[in-house]
Amino acid sequence: MTDLEFDRTHVWHPYASLRDPPPVRLARSASGVEIELSDGRRLIDAVSSWWCVAHGHNHPSIVEAIRRQSERMCHVMFGGFTHGPAVELAERLIAFAPPGLDRVFFADSGSISVEVAAKMAVQYQRAKGRPQRAKLAALKGGYHGDTSLAMALSDPDGMHVLFRDIMTRHFFAEKPSVPFGGEWDAADFASMLRTVEAHGDEIAAVICEPIFQAANAMNFYHPQYLRELRRLCDEKGILLIFDEIAAGFHRTGPRWAQEHAGVRPDIMTVGKALTGGHMTLAATLASGEVADTISGGTPSAFMHGPTYMANPLACAAAIASLDLFAAADYAESVRKIEARFKSALAPLVQRPNVADVRVLGAVAVVETKRLPARADIERVIDEHGVWLRPFCDYVYAMPPLVSGMATIDRIAAAIADLAACPPGPPQDGDFHE
Ligand code: PLP
Repeated sequence: MTDLEFDRTHVWHPYASLRDPPPVRLARSASGVEIELSDGRRLIDAVSSWWCVAHGHNHPSIVEAIRRQSERMCHVMFGGFTHGPAVELAERLIAFAPPGLDRVFFADSGSISVEVAAKMAVQYQRAKGRPQRAKLAALKGGYHGDTSLAMALSDPDGMHVLFRDIMTRHFFAEKPSVPFGGEWDAADFASMLRTVEAHGDEIAAVICEPIFQAANAMNFYHPQYLRELRRLCDEKGILLIFDEIAAGFHRTGPRWAQEHAGVRPDIMTVGKALTGGHMTLAATLASGEVADTISGGTPSAFMHGPTYMANPLACAAAIASLDLFAAADYAESVRKIEARFKSALAPLVQRPNVADVRVLGAVAVVETKRLPARADIERVIDEHGVWLRPFCDYVYAMPPLVSGMATIDRIAAAIADLAACPPGPPQDGDFHE
């Protein structure tokens, strides 16, 4: 049995069936913007392996940092111990984060960092003497992860609908509809206002992906929404959580997507590009006020503690990744990527199967009326040597931030080819990222 045959019958892939699963490719190595397959073919990774490979695959300085750390200590429990990589990373991350978010909880994935953020908000309100504030408000069209609390905060009509009965019900406002760059209309905030007016006494925090709703909607919305939200949360004593896991680390241009609006949250989650896509690591950052209030409550301990919390190898990778973020002018690189995608992709809106084209930072989205057939998608990937992973109706690219213009042109050509294909039949299951 070949590796691919064994994989096909025994190994689940994300959002895939084990009966007649969609094809997977056998990856052998990866470097820079490319993934090499077992037969020697190379594919440009136009989705940065689910948006985390910011500096390119197997970046030598990150690989070296992991290697050096592995010789000293691969892991030690974080209960009762600390270590150099965790302390240095916390210092570095605080300096890199928006001012005021200077307390750090390390988590092992983005979803877990969201669970941690939500639990912090609930413990905060309890410590404030408001235990009835034990729910959150979130946005339709949002996505915060696949663990149960993160699912319960994601679009209630989206990909997790199957699990509705095992999820706690939270409160949802309509998806923001005034686009980034459009003219602000106060009516866009009305649903959030109504939600908070009606249920404010039960709401510990509002959580959202600032500016860019990624995995559920590929929606870029108006910065004024976040300013209104900050004002509303302050007025009602509700915490504001920004999930920067997808949008942070320059994906939309500035270091943090919230910078488009000039507002800061009380709690923020980061992940994905934190290690440059080399190890799994995320973090929840909180303000001193949040941390001090939790610590003044009963219990004073914050009740979360993953086994692999602050894994030293992952921390070493993240420190090396932050070095690269500090050394490069990614805001400028992303401006170039954005301009190139805009000029190459804007004309596609004329195509019969294209509903919309939108680009923000290093995110390019071609919304189709319906995705082309799987065979067309596979052909385009193989012919162009560009790895794309369309979902729902979206053909999109979120390439490594180090991508040069020749890479962007090849990605744009592949997307254009796909946008010219006719709509395919409805797809089963494969509707995430
Ligand atoms: N939050 C956002 C905004 C995301 O885009 C994702 C993943 O796509 C997550 C949370 C979950 O992160 P992870 O897949 O690392 O659990």
